[in-house]
Amino acid sequence: MPKRQRIEAAHFVDWIDEKSSDLVNDAKAFTWSSMCGHAVVRLQGGRHAMVRGGTHGISFSLRPSGFTDPFGESLSVPFVVVGLQPIGIEQLIFHTHPFPTGPSESDFKMLEMLNQEQSIIQEICGPEGGTVFYRRDRDRKEKSSRAPKN
Ligand SMILES: [Zn+2]
Repeated sequence: MPKRQRIEAAHFVDWIDEKSSDLVNDAKAFTWSSMCGHAVVRLQGGRHAMVRGGTHGISFSLRPSGFTDPFGESLSVPFVVVGLQPIGIEQLIFHTHPFPTGPSESDFKMLEMLNQEQSIIQEICGPEGGTVFYRRDRDRKEKSSRAPKN
C-alpha cells in the first residue's frame, strides 16, 4: 500500500472515443501505471473524457448551478476543467480503483450529485466486467418527492 492515500479532484486526461472496445483496458492500464483512479465521464455537449483522481479516489469540484431544489437548497454541479474552461459532468460512465475496495463514500456521493441511478467500478484485481453499484438514497428521494409542499 502506498503511504500517501489521497482523494483528488478530477483532472482532465484526454478526450476519448466512447465506442472504443479497449476503453476499460486503457483505463485499467492508466490506473495500474499511476496507481490513481480514473473515470470515463460524459460532459455537457455529449463528448466523453477520461479524468484522473488520486490513489484513493476521485472527487469532483462543484460550482453553483444557479438552480434550487424544491426545498430551496441551492444545487451544485460537478465539473472538470478542460484547457481553461470548466465543463459540467453529466454522467459517470465508469471509474477504476487501483485496489479492489468496492464503492467508496465519495462514489455514492457522485451518483447523488449527478442524479444517476447506478454506475460501474472497474477494479485492478477485481471482478471481470466490473462491479455495478447503486445510489443509496433512492428510497429516501422517492419519499421526499412525494412529500407535500408547504
Ligand atoms: Zn470509486
